[in-house]
Amino acid sequence: MGLIVQKYGGSSVADAEGMKRVANRIVSAKRDGNQVVVVVSAMGDTTDELIELAKQITPIPSGRELDMLLTAGERISMALLAMAITNLGHEARSFTGSQAGVITTSAHGRARIIDVTPGRIQEALKEGAIAIVAGFQGISQDTKDVTTLGRGGSDTTAVALAAALDADVCEIYTDVDGVFSADPRVVPNARKLKTVTYDEMLELAASGAKVLHLRCVEYARRYDLPIHVRSSFTTNEGTWVVKDHPVGHSLGKGTEMEQAIISGIAHDKSEAKITIVGVPDRTGVAARIFQAIADADINIDMIVQNVSAAATGLTDISFTLPKAEGPDATSILQKLQGEVGFASIQYDDQIGKLSLVGAGMRSHPGVTATFFGALSNAGVNIEMISTSEIRISIICRESDIERGVRAAHTAFELDTDQNEAVIYAGTGL
Ligand code: ADP
Ligand code: ASP
Ligand code: MG
Repeated sequence: MGLIVQKYGGSSVADAEGMKRVANRIVSAKRDGNQVVVVVSAMGDTTDELIELAKQITPIPSGRELDMLLTAGERISMALLAMAITNLGHEARSFTGSQAGVITTSAHGRARIIDVTPGRIQEALKEGAIAIVAGFQGISQDTKDVTTLGRGGSDTTAVALAAALDADVCEIYTDVDGVFSADPRVVPNARKLKTVTYDEMLELAASGAKVLHLRCVEYARRYDLPIHVRSSFTTNEGTWVVKDHPVGHSLGKGTEMEQAIISGIAHDKSEAKITIVGVPDRTGVAARIFQAIADADINIDMIVQNVSAAATGLTDISFTLPKAEGPDATSILQKLQGEVGFASIQYDDQIGKLSLVGAGMRSHPGVTATFFGALSNAGVNIEMISTSEIRISIICRESDIERGVRAAHTAFELDTDQNEAVIYAGTGL
């Protein structure tokens, strides 16, 4: 008998019919002789609707109260799902994140899991019940307030619980058949990946492929826990997120025994770019600027600094950051202007990021040339570049992103004619 943790996303439980369909799946895993723990998200677009509602009350709701409000979405789901399972003649008990022992930091809206003490879940399992846990939420160790883990955080609840319970597998059920070579909503002929490594999935998730929450992949890698991403609408085998690709793994045409060069292409439209113009080219200036940004707890992504060749003694610094942090960062920089002595600040929220990810990149020169060639043929202008060992990312105009993703997908021979990229539900938002 195995222990399975299953997570169902919002589009899988969007209405009563969805709840009943998912309940049947859960019961069949139980009938197969497994112990089953289920993590569930809020129904459909409930979380967005609750945020919108809060904004109608006040433009800047307090983090504590917003978290209290948003966690209600997952509570509705867990109770309805438990009822649907009970209706099928099996015992189910629902638990909030706090009851399930998900202990977090106190940072509202982006709390991190510190510990999981799933005593009540283990008790329920021992007594033969199916445990249903509300995703995306926990309780702060310090303040004892209810917290949320950030948008998409139910994936992380599932993997953290699976690790704490020493589960055999964590199944993430969503509205597509697995992890694809690109977002199927942008590339209709994307191919489903049989396997993707933790390292590749980390880069994809960090680059905007929201099919898995970034921190759930970090967790899975730390505990070497396999994740199976699949559709809740079919019984198709999905994608396995694992430590290494199996021997003989291949993707591109004519590379049967060779590792695929590129596993996936991700894109992200949630970032903005700030350029600080005319910064004095002196030691310590960049440190001063980025210390001020760090002190405000603002996460920055790419940075480019280019010293002017015409000996002006000045340089421009550009960096990208989440759009949501743009206003804060801009006002912090404005306060520094007198001290640092730069000319001006430019804010641009019409950018997009496009990233190529693949472990095979390490051993293949020429990936950058092929990538840039494809972008150039598609008329996409590159504004910034950053790389890691297994990723190349560029910034371009937001309006060019989808064209760029499709061009790169074709250039790396990832297109398939198998019609795999079916979207079963959801809005992709
Ligand atoms: P859930 O509500 O189940 O958590 P999400 O909307 O968070 O689902 O994630 C699933 C969506 O992720 C898909 O519908 C798809 O549009 C998007 N997505 C982005 N990149 C990828 C990718 N490489 N493979 C699969 N899906 C992707
Ligand atoms: N309901 C939350 C959200 O929409 C968490 C999740 O679905 O994972 O972000
Ligand atoms: Mg999600």
